[in-house]
Amino acid sequence: MTELNQQTTYDDNNIFAKMLDGDIPYHKVYEDDKTLAFMDIMPQAEGHVLVIPKQKAVDLADLEPEYAAAVLMTSKKVMQAQRQVFEREGVIQMQLNGSQAGQTVFHYHVHLIPSSIHELGRHAVTQADNNDLADIAQKLAAVINA
Ligand code: 5GP
Repeated sequence: MTELNQQTTYDDNNIFAKMLDGDIPYHKVYEDDKTLAFMDIMPQAEGHVLVIPKQKAVDLADLEPEYAAAVLMTSKKVMQAQRQVFEREGVIQMQLNGSQAGQTVFHYHVHLIPSSIHELGRHAVTQADNNDLADIAQKLAAVINA
């Protein structure tokens, strides 16, 4: 493991932990007692959402069953809202485990991307317009909360 320079211990200062602590702003899509969903700031397609557990898990290996179930149920809500808002069936569900897989933030998260595997943009490269993210978050939240 160490040979691969993998991060295996949870860093309380990672960017998603700071969001959960309320120290960093984000565009919220949905929240409940076990999960938070928000807009990815460098989307791989319009409407790219991240779902995180309120548990200190680096990756899938650490995720407790109750949080795994909660993340999946929130992902389902978000995906259904994306289908409605973007009027498309195709939504990619992606999750990276370890830096070798390309993981860059070491708090477990599921990517939900309204796109096709053939059209997917580059990972965590281009920052989106803040107003656009706010607008999309509002539309998705409105569908989920309807
Ligand atoms: P990973 O590479 O760990 O699977 O994905 C991390 C994701 O977090 C990337 O898609 C990246 O665009 C996103 N991200 C990185 N920093 C921030 C941030 O400060 N705010 C938000 N909302 N997303 C971020």
